[in-house]
Amino acid sequence: MSLEGKVSWDLLKNIANTLDSYRVRVLIDAKEEILNTNIYNEEQYYNILFKMFEDEMSKYSLYYYLNQNETGNLKLLKEFSKLHSLNLAKTLSLLELLSSENLVKVEYLYDTVKDEANETENKIFKDLAIQSTKIAPSEIKSIYEPVKVIFDSKNCSGCGLCVGLCPVNCIELNNGIGRIDDDKCIRCGLCYYFCPRTYLPVNLLNMVQENTSEIPSPSKLGFYSEAYSARTKVKEISEQCQDGGISSTCLYYLFEQSKIDYALGASMSNNPWRPEPILMKKREDVLLTTGTKYVNNPSLSLMNQLNGNTCRLAIVGVPCMMQSLLKSKIYDLHIPSQNNVVYRIGIFCMESFSYESFLKICDLLNVNVDDVKKTDINKGKFFIYTNSGKELTIPIKEITHLAREDCEVCYDLTSESADISIGSVGSPSGWNTVLIRTEKGKELYEALLKNDLIESKSLKAVKPGLPLLEKVAASKKKKCSTHVAKKKTEHIRTPSY
Ligand code: SF4
Ligand code: SF4
Ligand code: SF4
Repeated sequence: MSLEGKVSWDLLKNIANTLDSYRVRVLIDAKEEILNTNIYNEEQYYNILFKMFEDEMSKYSLYYYLNQNETGNLKLLKEFSKLHSLNLAKTLSLLELLSSENLVKVEYLYDTVKDEANETENKIFKDLAIQSTKIAPSEIKSIYEPVKVIFDSKNCSGCGLCVGLCPVNCIELNNGIGRIDDDKCIRCGLCYYFCPRTYLPVNLLNMVQENTSEIPSPSKLGFYSEAYSARTKVKEISEQCQDGGISSTCLYYLFEQSKIDYALGASMSNNPWRPEPILMKKREDVLLTTGTKYVNNPSLSLMNQLNGNTCRLAIVGVPCMMQSLLKSKIYDLHIPSQNNVVYRIGIFCMESFSYESFLKICDLLNVNVDDVKKTDINKGKFFIYTNSGKELTIPIKEITHLAREDCEVCYDLTSESADISIGSVGSPSGWNTVLIRTEKGKELYEALLKNDLIESKSLKAVKPGLPLLEKVAASKKKKCSTHVAKKKTEHIRTPSY
């Protein structure tokens, strides 16, 4: 049977490029090693491979479409989306891939609008300027290297996602320091592909959060629809929690109502104040995770324990973890554990410390780590409360050099990529600030209210409220931009936001 007239030249070229794609070839070549490791079974392996094949095909289709024009813009992307029945977010995700592989150059263009009342300037999204390199993809041979480059350049946030998805289980993350077993690594680059510190299309993340077909303009807190100040009414939680206990109450409700099978978070290990990831299986486990921890904890590293069966998983974590999860959702490659995530419960985070740095802070405050009862960051100070009733403080600026270096390049205070974000900044002592970001987050919050599990007020009704939250979030973004710019001038690798 002749294929002439049934298969177009462009399609054949696309299939050839896709089969030549490094990411596809490595997975095909390493089938045996992957199946022998037993992280993924044969069906899951094929699901991942074929999804990757499909996405690579779409990526090259977009590349050739853009290549037909001198310059591209948003209108051109919309035309491509319509032609291929894709939503704009999917097309943008392909564009970001092409950009990260140096096949196109993308610039976001903004108008600057002066806000006279606040004496500030706001950037309003205008259009995209896309330039195609017009190089044959086979000449570029984009290689996705293992995340060793992220570890070595001190950009790794320690979220643990790479450990939780590596198909041959060859990444270790101890005390925030990553190591790859080179003998076992098959160079598939899956870790690189999903890591939030390689490239992170923040505009796309915000667009997906807002569930809009427009590219949003930059904002201080990311997209949110509602803002509250709240505290738990669950006695066991309020007796143990640090602020309002809302993240624990979310998990308490989800387990109680059988809306999840598992939850991932951080509990204390046998070493005082050294957290470790915990896979919660029942409501009672939630009480093991209460209290704020300032030492890095790679919760997502446990995700590969849940590949075996379809389940419903909630994850409580800091902003860099929420970015990993939302990036994984956008670039869905049918990784089973990632598809199990049904709730992303984000907590606010200014910075985190290694365990050694935490011990140094204890030294500076002349307190034994065994005597620490509670820690807190508030009003520019780090607080330690001791079992013997003392309150010890040190200004943050005196310990900020002890924070993890990767936190310097973190732009996100409020877990902008979560379904619901929870923290203390903006609310009075004993209360949490809550930002509702997605429909799922809204439903969850409304269920807590309906079941009389929380007290809630509008964030507008409390002091210091939204102005302080926006101020702290903006200062984190500014600090991040300064560090990224400085590293760039020193030719040091930074995440591509
Ligand atoms: S940021 Fe997360 S995914 Fe990236 S290297 Fe570090 S632990 Fe792995
Ligand atoms: S370390 Fe990264 S590149 Fe190597 S096998 Fe694991 S996921 Fe693939
Ligand atoms: S500051 Fe950012 S990178 Fe550091 S732990 Fe917090 S969320 Fe992660």
